[in-house]
Amino acid sequence: MEAGSKMFHQMGQMPPEDEYNRELVANVHPPDWINPEPAPRYNLVVIGAGTAGLVTAAGAAGLGAKVALVERHLLGGDCLNVGCIPSKCLIRSSRVYADMRDAHEFGVRVPEGGRAHFPEVMRRMRRLRAHISGHDSVQRFASLGVDVFLGEGRFTGPETVDVGGKRLRFSKAVIATGARADEPMVPGLAEAGFLTNETVFSLTELPRRILVFGAGPIGCEMAQAFRRFGSEVTIIERAPQFLTREDPDAAAIIHNAFRREGIDVRLNTLVTRIEMTHEGKRVFLAADGSSSEVTVDEILIGAGRVPNVGGLNLEGVGVAYDQRKGVEVNDFLQTTNPRIYAAGDICLSHKFTHTADAAARIVIQNALFRGRKRLSALTIPWCTYTDPEIAHVGMYEKDASARGIPVDTFVREMKDVDRAITDGEEEGFVKVHVRKGTGHILGATIVARHAGEMINEISLAMVGKIGLGTLANVIHSYPTQAEAIKQVADMYNRTRLTTFVRMLLAWWLRSMG
Ligand SMILES: Cc1cc2nc3c(=O)[nH]c(=O)nc-3n(C[C@H](O)[C@H](O)[C@H](O)COP(=O)(O)OP(=O)(O)OC[C@H]3O[C@@H](n4cnc5c(N)ncnc54)[C@H](O)[C@@H]3O)c2cc1C
Repeated sequence: MEAGSKMFHQMGQMPPEDEYNRELVANVHPPDWINPEPAPRYNLVVIGAGTAGLVTAAGAAGLGAKVALVERHLLGGDCLNVGCIPSKCLIRSSRVYADMRDAHEFGVRVPEGGRAHFPEVMRRMRRLRAHISGHDSVQRFASLGVDVFLGEGRFTGPETVDVGGKRLRFSKAVIATGARADEPMVPGLAEAGFLTNETVFSLTELPRRILVFGAGPIGCEMAQAFRRFGSEVTIIERAPQFLTREDPDAAAIIHNAFRREGIDVRLNTLVTRIEMTHEGKRVFLAADGSSSEVTVDEILIGAGRVPNVGGLNLEGVGVAYDQRKGVEVNDFLQTTNPRIYAAGDICLSHKFTHTADAAARIVIQNALFRGRKRLSALTIPWCTYTDPEIAHVGMYEKDASARGIPVDTFVREMKDVDRAITDGEEEGFVKVHVRKGTGHILGATIVARHAGEMINEISLAMVGKIGLGTLANVIHSYPTQAEAIKQVADMYNRTRLTTFVRMLLAWWLRSMG
């Protein structure tokens, strides 16, 4: 792991060592595991057992292929161990706190001084993570017929991967080695020490003051959670908006929510250097020609992800890669070595668990069955799990205009949706872009407390080539927040009433007397 991280996690370990982390490790890197004797030849050797590697291995073995899966650290990769699962556990606890904080608005009185108890929050997370880890366990994969090898995998020839002194021969191989937190080159950062996603979920005490470096999805989710747990939070972003790729209206809502919650938000700001002082980590900032400083106990880095391309001997097997973009693949997820494929964060610009999963399914078909499944055919939604959530699928307005596609945009504010009002969750909107003059959905952004659930309806419509007008015919249970989507569709349908049709309708109704 990274040299500068505050806590250096040994391969195959997960601090703190308690009953739950022992259960986790026993599942995903059992200390007494003995690697099997390699088969004479594998249909598929998969390096990396995060989502991409696990889905590839399980799917291929399920179809009868002889598969070897190689993992140097913990099966489940980032998502289970240091990503989606622990972060969503923390976010859930932070929402309970926010609901308690705002309870008076719902006519509910809670005792004064209610607050989150951080050690208990983290213990709950460790318990749930351990519970879920059975699904990604070495034992489960062995029972599926996959040969699991714990150790560092490295290509040693055109058809061999070595791991822990054993040689695995393959017909096809898959690189699924994922990505890690990018470490900004800031003077003093390494000396001061910092947290990344690999170490933050091992905290047992709440930092009193924390600086979140980068307002991307991970930074935003963690900044809000830590603030709700009681930390003083400063979030620094060099760009002029949060979540730089998101719709500016959506990012503005999160910006305002953060300010209201008492997060110190610094946009257009650079960290210039860091010094250790007896008061803590002093972080020097520059913004708009002026400088300032803030002193904190912890720095959490959320400034992008870099691919794990090192140590694999990719040059030796003719696999082209870029240190920042990762392994080069074509639309069939084939690398520049036609026998070697890649899936997941190692090669994709959309670094999500569901894209890693979808890519793995493409790889199984293309690598083993000469399929022609294309990455570009995927419709990929995503969600940032702040409160409210921001979810998106397809094109943004700026993408459409960059490609010269004229759009019509329909927006329904959540404050006009009955269920959002009764829930006290009125912040946000549903915004859908269609090709101008048609119901062909190009993309959508949803900001709502459960936007991640709502966006799936739009994804379904896009995959099924269902026009926006048809969504108006889908009866939505009343009252639900997803009705906002139907209401957007109604808006679209109203625009289909041309002046001529309106005149015709008026004439008909008049003629009825
Ligand atoms: C804090 C955080 C929150 C996130 N939240 C979400 C979310 O809510 N939703 C979502 O969709 N995505 C989320 N993500 C992203 C998601 O975790 C990743 O996109 C996903 O884990 C990628 O899977 P992967 O298999 O490509 O890589 P990884 O999960 O990184 O797995 C790669 C594996 O390869 C192993 N490896 C690397 N090199 C070698 C080698 N040489 N030999 C053997 N093994 C090796 C690594 O140890 C690792 O286990 C989050 C990420 C973070 C960091």
